[in-house]
Amino acid sequence: MDLKVMNGLLTPKSVAIIGASSTPGKIGHTVVKNLIESKYAGKIYPVNPKADDILGIKCYPTVTDIPGEVDAAIMTLPAKFVLESVKECGEKGVKGAIIITSGFSEVGEKALEEEIVKTAHSYGMRVLGPNIVGVLSNSDQFNGSFAPFLPLKGSGSLVSQSGALLIGIDASTYMRGVGFDKLISIGNMSDVSFADTIEWLDQDEKTKCISLYIEGFKQGRKVIEVSQKARKPIIGLKSGISAHGAAAAASHTGSLAGAAKIYDAAFKQAGIIWADDLNNLFDRTLALSLQPPMKGDNLLIITNGGGVGVLATDSAEKFGIPLKFAPDDVQTELKKHMPEFGSAKNPVDLTGMAGTEWYGDSVKFAIQHPWVDGLVVLYCETAMTDPLEIAKGIHNAVKESGVTDKPVTVSYVGGEKSEKAMKWLVENGIPAYSAPDLAINAIAALREYALNKENNQDDHLDFQGVDKQKALAVIEKARQDGRDALTEIEAKQVFEAYQLPVTHSRVAKSEDEAVKLAAEIGYPVVMKIVSPQILHKSDAGGVKVNIKDEAGVRTTYNTILQNAKAYKADANIHGILVQEMAPLGTEVILGSVNDATFGPTVMFGLGGIFVEVLKDVTFRVAPFSKKQALEMMAEIKGAPILRGVRGELPRDMDALADAICRYAHMVLDLADEVSESDANPVLVYENGKGLKVVDARIILKKK
Ligand code: ADP
Ligand code: MG
Repeated sequence: MDLKVMNGLLTPKSVAIIGASSTPGKIGHTVVKNLIESKYAGKIYPVNPKADDILGIKCYPTVTDIPGEVDAAIMTLPAKFVLESVKECGEKGVKGAIIITSGFSEVGEKALEEEIVKTAHSYGMRVLGPNIVGVLSNSDQFNGSFAPFLPLKGSGSLVSQSGALLIGIDASTYMRGVGFDKLISIGNMSDVSFADTIEWLDQDEKTKCISLYIEGFKQGRKVIEVSQKARKPIIGLKSGISAHGAAAAASHTGSLAGAAKIYDAAFKQAGIIWADDLNNLFDRTLALSLQPPMKGDNLLIITNGGGVGVLATDSAEKFGIPLKFAPDDVQTELKKHMPEFGSAKNPVDLTGMAGTEWYGDSVKFAIQHPWVDGLVVLYCETAMTDPLEIAKGIHNAVKESGVTDKPVTVSYVGGEKSEKAMKWLVENGIPAYSAPDLAINAIAALREYALNKENNQDDHLDFQGVDKQKALAVIEKARQDGRDALTEIEAKQVFEAYQLPVTHSRVAKSEDEAVKLAAEIGYPVVMKIVSPQILHKSDAGGVKVNIKDEAGVRTTYNTILQNAKAYKADANIHGILVQEMAPLGTEVILGSVNDATFGPTVMFGLGGIFVEVLKDVTFRVAPFSKKQALEMMAEIKGAPILRGVRGELPRDMDALADAICRYAHMVLDLADEVSESDANPVLVYENGKGLKVVDARIILKKK
């Protein structure tokens, strides 16, 4: 990212409005008016060959006629003139084009849009848009958009892919009392996209939290990369999570991978905090922009009412920070700030008698205590207390404590006075919400932020000894056969090249050969059909396990052949697989898809027949750390099965985490060749005994 160019684009010191208009109501007029009304201190140069001045500001026939330097050109002229105008801006040395004009890729004019970006880049210029509302910045008093006014001042900044939503959000900041410093509309993302804006906002001093409204990332991996590096919290609201994954897929993984799960994975890896809906985006932005991350799990709730205390307790469990009883010394001290019938356990109930002093004293003590990692203060409006006084008491206590690295959120339930008190709190840096669950959800976002930072510390494994050439040779052979599906034995050869443990197998072309191979491998054996046309072998009666002797091998050989022919008469049969029989273990599935946005993405879940019914699977974009692999294992519903249920010993979690990472490395390394793959099942044994891939499938990319 060229900082000078990006600064010119997003915080310009001078702007040309190309397509500026004298006619009120036209976008080219509105933008000039907005720049004036926002008290923009930079130079404003309207460009229009037919006007002398617009709203009292001298107008220029072309951008090249402008005497001074121009940082950004805001373009509102018709689509067909934009390319020419970008060229002129390039000649003039303009740093960035904010292209408001629509009528490009969103209506199929992709080539023109690409041409514009190519031209801009040839001059070292960047493009925001097209098809956008513009850029708004409170700290620069810059309304370079056709949204009517700057948003309420705040310390978060928002990037929105939807223009209409951005205008709506702009106005709603005043109603909600949640402001932003910058609103950036990115529309078609022809050039500047989420990754660039995240990177830029991360170095922008005025932005404390980066909020995103996402319809779809363009460069998913780049977003993950820059987000991981960001030093500020990033929160994302992703829309359209129901429409993805509908396309018919050849593997389990394809049908189980939906946008929601893959974005969820990408967010986790990027350290982006999830927003459930628009309200949640505002609520969490407020907390993330005002408060520090919550570095541990110990949440303390202080309340003056049992009802809100219990509601908050329920929410705390729901949002992943269940309450624990406060330690004895904390309880003993807090008991001093409440009547006899209060409770110091957690939630700490100061009772309805609590006034400013009790609130203040207990908040100050609690936040200073090493056990407490985060504090939620609840207040129900009472006739005896003044909401604003309580707010001031809370604020002073936090300030006097000198503690700045533990988060505090507040919830008031009450009327107008409470509303005013909450507004005061927000203006003074403490996020306040109208319901206890919102205050808990907000502090949970700060906990998620801290966890994200811990989990994304790099501990990528070393994959020495991998033989990519061997894998490519297997793939090449299948391609020469005109196939895009590998057989089980071929897929296992690829897995083996990446040092994933597979069951030993050989292909027999005759009954006698099968007997010979079985003796070599050792009884009992498993026998399976080998045919590129039969990918789900059991469906075709093509798998027989636990064959104990020669007679069994002979009968099974013929049974499987007959079954396969009955199932698919024209199937091309390569032979019958004779395979080492793996001992019983816990069945898990590994899968991969080559996602359009994120590229190779790995799935993990409990295997066997349950996988399709329960859909208890989780994803990560490859590659990822062992910590992430361990987290995948912990976050499926079936996690207790891996930890060992009903007297069973725990499974070999360490070997499994290694295998998941190795598998991720494999699908990433072979991304040009492999479209989807799975290992279903993988049998996982007890601690120290490893695992075995007993079935493998690889679907190649069409070439
Ligand atoms: P498919 O999924 O194509 O129907 P699999 O190779 O997965 O065929 O075999 C079906 C089932 O047979 C597996 O889910 C597993 O329970 C069992 N199985 C297959 N191969 C082995 C093996 N080598 N050792 C032990 N069990 C096996
Ligand atoms: Mg299988």
